[in-house]
Amino acid sequence: MRPVFIALLLLSGSSQLIAQDKKEQLRQRIFQKVETMTAKTNAWREDFHENPELGNREFRTSQIIANHLRSLGLEVQEGVAHTGVVGLLKGGKPGPCIALRADMDALPITERVHVPFASRVKTTYNGQEVGVMHACGHDTHVAMLMATAEVLSSFKAEIQGSVKFIFQPAEEGAPDGEEGGAALMVKEGVMENPKVDMVLGFHIESDIEVGQIHYKPGAFMAAADWFSIEVKGKGSHGSQPWKGIDPIQVSAQIIDGLQAIVSRQSELTKAPVVITVGKINGGVRQNIIPESCSMAGTIRTLDSDMQKEVHEKIKHTAKHIAEASGATAEVTIETKTLVTYNNPELLKKIIPSLEKATAPENVKPREWVTGAEDFSYYGTKAPAVFLYLGGMPKGNDPAKAPPHHTADFLVAHNGMPTGITPSAAWCST
Ligand SMILES: [Zn+2]
Ligand SMILES: [Zn+2]
Repeated sequence: MRPVFIALLLLSGSSQLIAQDKKEQLRQRIFQKVETMTAKTNAWREDFHENPELGNREFRTSQIIANHLRSLGLEVQEGVAHTGVVGLLKGGKPGPCIALRADMDALPITERVHVPFASRVKTTYNGQEVGVMHACGHDTHVAMLMATAEVLSSFKAEIQGSVKFIFQPAEEGAPDGEEGGAALMVKEGVMENPKVDMVLGFHIESDIEVGQIHYKPGAFMAAADWFSIEVKGKGSHGSQPWKGIDPIQVSAQIIDGLQAIVSRQSELTKAPVVITVGKINGGVRQNIIPESCSMAGTIRTLDSDMQKEVHEKIKHTAKHIAEASGATAEVTIETKTLVTYNNPELLKKIIPSLEKATAPENVKPREWVTGAEDFSYYGTKAPAVFLYLGGMPKGNDPAKAPPHHTADFLVAHNGMPTGITPSAAWCST
């Protein structure tokens, strides 16, 4: 794999890392350094994969990261947003502060993949005995960022400005009742001291071929909101519904009404909207009309004005449908992540370099993603870019790739060199 970032260091017209006249020479040195990192990066990835930890509980992972960053001579901060680690590499020359971010958490899933480094870790999650698995590829994110830190550290004297390595806990969401993830990292000041001027993150994907990088300018990944609706009616005998107010039937109308917000009331040519009711709970017996029924779901939007409109419409729809039957509906909406927005100017700067460094056909624009990323919170403090990275073995069928967040999820080791590259590339733009 041709390390993308090395070429970028040279191709970028606005390189902040390197003096112009030394570019070629430096490229060769960095190239060699990256090549020596493969075995180490793979070993880190295997170790993290075999020893996954859930969000806000990444104790072992963060210890290994902190020790590594310290061994490189970086300034290291531990315990940020619970288990987060931040390393600061101060370059030998003045310049901006560029942040690179990797998430560290695994998921409560029992691994079914037959690899020598499969996880056998078990834990209790929400009262259930479950396995723990890196089923979203965050093990590779950590390994790649550790490698990037090592590569960039060895060229410290030539770096203009500084590089902040952000190892973030709980991207998948903090445990109930706890704060966590990018929002808490930002709240605890990760984007300050020194102030971050730009930030890059990426996600390895099981259905994108190894070696590829996918991007989208502007809104890329959705804002995710969680909502719940409590419908209150009036209980009665199942044989005499006219004596009560049936909250289950009202809930059915509300669910239908929510889909009309998407299909009839949202300007879908502007940006997509998804409303999903994933949970409904009401009643205990066939012949009892219960007093209440509750439901919960998620909203995905890619435009913050549309996000606000959808919130209002959900409240309006639920309230008035309930009222029409004499019931009440109480709506609660909680924003989990913001729209992940790629700064178009910064992205524009980086794309030609990425294309030259890999191959033009390997760097592809893509459509919206209705999945969400808490990386979006860093984008509220500095221009940000988030890229997708290939993790699917070459020649495989993307349609048959094991989905993220499943027991069969797996990404290939050899996707990682391309992951080291865009991170380091950012440092050169
Ligand atoms: Zn995930
Ligand atoms: Zn993920």
